Amino acid sequence: MTLKPAITQNEDAQAAVAVTHRVVLVDDSAWFRKLAIRELHAIEGIAAVEVSDLDDLFANEHWLTESTMCLLIEESQLALLTCERKKRLVQSGIPILGLGHSVVVRGQGLIQTSVDIPNRVDVIDRDSPAGLFRLVEFVNRIRDNQRQRVLVLYPETEERERLLQLLRVYRFGVQVVSCIAEALRLLDDRRDFRIAVVGSHLGAMSGEEVIRCLRSSHDHESLAILGLSEMGDWSTAQGFLKSGANDFLMVPFPVEEFYCRVINIARSVDMIDRLTNAATRDHLTGMHNRRFLFDVGNKLYASMQRGQIALSVAMVDIDHFKAINDTFGHEAGNVVLRRVADILGKRFRKTDVVARIGGEEFAILMVNMSEEGMRECFEALRQRIASEPFLFNGVPLQVTASFGVTNQPADSLQEALDNADKLLYLAKNSGRNRVEYKTIPSHYLSHH
Ligand code: GH3
Ligand code: MG
Ligand code: MG
Repeated sequence: MTLKPAITQNEDAQAAVAVTHRVVLVDDSAWFRKLAIRELHAIEGIAAVEVSDLDDLFANEHWLTESTMCLLIEESQLALLTCERKKRLVQSGIPILGLGHSVVVRGQGLIQTSVDIPNRVDVIDRDSPAGLFRLVEFVNRIRDNQRQRVLVLYPETEERERLLQLLRVYRFGVQVVSCIAEALRLLDDRRDFRIAVVGSHLGAMSGEEVIRCLRSSHDHESLAILGLSEMGDWSTAQGFLKSGANDFLMVPFPVEEFYCRVINIARSVDMIDRLTNAATRDHLTGMHNRRFLFDVGNKLYASMQRGQIALSVAMVDIDHFKAINDTFGHEAGNVVLRRVADILGKRFRKTDVVARIGGEEFAILMVNMSEEGMRECFEALRQRIASEPFLFNGVPLQVTASFGVTNQPADSLQEALDNADKLLYLAKNSGRNRVEYKTIPSHYLSHH
């Protein structure tokens, strides 16, 4: 490893532009605002602004547009809104959290307090010790809901419109379908639907049948289901739950109960995602880990052996990495690992697998990549890493990596990885900062 002359290059230019979401806080107490703003700024991606009363909110018209993620407004001020202003708030469609005072909130169904604004989706007791915690939880919830898509399987009725409205106000992405075939197609095509809301019937099918049908291909890990059924039919609750619904609600329902149940479901989906991430990703780089490589890779390998796809395998190892650690410290090594991971991660398709499988070793599985494409890709990667000024405390470190790449079929994924590993060691022994290939032309593979 050698030191290169300092090159001024904006590292951040490469970084993905982070989205920030505006949150507006309207509260009379300067002391409460100070505490709340401090908590809000600690949330990633949130830009919070504060005003003491609604006059100031309405004086900033641009705050009442789509660019505001949610409004946090004192209940006592909402209660005194003029009709015109109320209309303006409702029209904005921005979800509102009411900040209640203990006297108003205690012992009541929260949403049924004196204020009636449909987009005021929740109320908290801002004076309680947990008030700030609830406020932060609400903002996090709304932010996460924006990433969540809900599939609604419900016959065309007025209720359905209301349901959609309620979900949209809480910032969920929503899509409606009126037949099961369309639902299944959407769930297969776009894997971002994690929540389904199912009505008491859909076409000729009962709600229970719809749920059983969804569950035959989507387990609890991939899809959470809320069943809705008409009032009075108590047997449906058990039927829905036994068919695989996560939760159940009678129609018509109190809005607040609907939101509580949907939020519980959204929370469990998030928890599954967090656990899955923890189990399948490497903490330092955010890359997939060895477990994921073999879980997904073995399936890909089986598809390759059935002739459905072509699969190539690469092993990557950073050169003289120990020297970086020894010279500049472990943290410098970590910075290099993250940058290399980033460079590798950006180069491949979504269907490919890029994993960190050891300290400074990475494995890559490429689906349907041509032989020429592969050579171009790895030559570009090698050059990119060798020319990247890895900045650590302003000092550029020169880093290179060696590669072993093959598209030759083997008996198993493990064997293919071992073959790539042998090529990698050939690259190391031939001077490092090299790619060694063992390939056969891709037209032979397509008939494999
Ligand atoms: P070669 O060119 O032959 O690959 O030499 P090398 O120095 O890269 O290989 P070696 O296997 O001798 O050293 C790898 C080093 O990676 C040793 C280990 O301390 C370090 N390492 C492993 N995991 C991490 C990590 O998470 N962070 C940092 N900073 N270093 C790590
Ligand atoms: Mg190494
Ligand atoms: Mg190594």
